[in-house]
Amino acid sequence: MRAIRLFGDPVLTTPAEPVTTFDKELRRLVGDLTDTMLKAPGAGLAAPQISVGLRVFVYDVDDVVGHLVNPVLGELSAEQQDGEEGCLSFPGLYFPCPRAQRVVARGANMYGDPVVISGSDLLARCLQHETDHLDGVLFIDRMDPAQRKLMMRAIREAEWFGGPAPAVKASPHSILGAVR
Ligand SMILES: [Zn+2]
Repeated sequence: MRAIRLFGDPVLTTPAEPVTTFDKELRRLVGDLTDTMLKAPGAGLAAPQISVGLRVFVYDVDDVVGHLVNPVLGELSAEQQDGEEGCLSFPGLYFPCPRAQRVVARGANMYGDPVVISGSDLLARCLQHETDHLDGVLFIDRMDPAQRKLMMRAIREAEWFGGPAPAVKASPHSILGAVR
């Protein structure tokens, strides 16, 4: 169980580095991420959220617990979903966030073997949300300006939010059917 960093912490907006060594330390990181996610509990957790700047995340969706190292998203569907989304770095806050309905994530497992995960609905949302974390992009960056404003207000009123309001940057990525 590791401490989860909260919105406002610069580690959350810093892009993470690719994993190059698939060693015991990486497997310990995946274990720590999984334990911390399950304890929270949450549907996903990315390494920067526990202050580790590596491209690794874990997920727990539809009773499947998994992890992905060095993920690359592709085949984002033009069809969108618009459900509510949450994040362990924004405790208690859930806001609508547009995402592709389907996506394919390619990467590796903690032993370095290639892995392909095809997701729709919640799993697709999770794969996009967690991969964004590795690019220093947060779900509030993906919202339309009106929704973002509502969320900033809720953040300022949240008990856990102590510091001065950080600047919210515009997303560097197209959110509509982008393939990257
Ligand atoms: Zn998150």
